[in-house]
Amino acid sequence: MMEERVALVTGGSRGIGRAIAVELSRAGYRVIVTYKENVAAAEETLALIRSEGGQAEAVRFDVADSSESAAAMEDIFSRHREIQVLVNNAGITADGLFMMMSEENWDKVIQTTLKGFFNVTRPVVQRMVRNHRGSVVSISSVSAMMGNRGQANYAAAKSGLIAASRTLSTEVARLGVRVNVVAPGLIDTEMIKGAPVTRIKEIIPMGRLGKAEEVAKVVRFLCSDDASYLTGQAVFVDGGMY
Ligand code: NDP
Repeated sequence: MMEERVALVTGGSRGIGRAIAVELSRAGYRVIVTYKENVAAAEETLALIRSEGGQAEAVRFDVADSSESAAAMEDIFSRHREIQVLVNNAGITADGLFMMMSEENWDKVIQTTLKGFFNVTRPVVQRMVRNHRGSVVSISSVSAMMGNRGQANYAAAKSGLIAASRTLSTEVARLGVRVNVVAPGLIDTEMIKGAPVTRIKEIIPMGRLGKAEEVAKVVRFLCSDDASYLTGQAVFVDGGMY
C-alpha cells in the first residue's frame, strides 16, 4: 500500500491558500485545510480537491490563539501520525499610516503572522525532526522588503517571518527538515480588493497582477524532492517587483 503523505495548509479556505491546497493535492498529498471562520469557503476548497479525486479535510482554528491552536494540532496529530509538508499561509492586513495606527491593528497583524507561525510550526517541526523529513513553507510578502506606505505592521510581521524561517532552517537542516519562504507580490485575491489596481500595475515590471496558482506552483516545487538542497531561502514571486 502506498504511504499516505499529509500536507497542512493554514488559511486554505480562500485565495492563495486554496490554490496551494489544490496544487499539493495534485502532487499526491492528503491536504488538511485550516480556516478561521469561513466554513463555506473551506468546504468549497474540499469540494474542488475531491472533484479531482484528491483527499482533503478542513479544521477550524484561529492560528493567533495559542490554546485553540494547541487543541487543533493535538486533534490533527491524533488522526495523522506524520505531516510531511506545512504551509503557513494564513495572514491578514490592517493597513493604515503608522502614526495613526491603532494598537489593535498593530497587534492583530503581528499575532496572526508571527504567533501563528509559532503556534503551528513548533508542534509540526518537533515531529518532522523525529521523522527526519519534512518541508515548511511560509508565505511572506514583497511588502516585507519594499517599504509600502501604510503597511508597517504587515511589513514587520512578514519580514519577521523571513527571519524566523531562516533561523529555523539552520537549526533543523541536519535533521532532514527544510524551511523556506515564498514572498508574493500583488496576487489577485480578496485581500487586495479595493486596492488601486491600475496604479499598482505600473510598478509591477510584468505589468499585471499574479495569480494564486502562480504562487502555488512555487510552493509545490519547494516542498518537492526537486528542491532537496534548498533551505533557508525566500523566493519572491512578484512579477519582478523586488
Ligand atoms: P485571503 O484574505 O484571500 O485569505 C486569507 C486566508 O487566511 C483565509 O483562508 C482565512 O480564513 C485565513 N486566516 C486569516 N486569519 C486567520 C487566522 N487568524 N487563523 C486562521 N486562518 C486565518 O488572503 P490571500 O489568499 O490573498 O493571502 C494568503 C497569504 O498570502 C497571506 O499570508 C497574505 O498575507 C499573503 N500575501 C498575499 C498577497 C496578495 O496580493 N493577495 C501578496 C503577498 C502576500 P477564513 O477564510 O476563515 O477567513
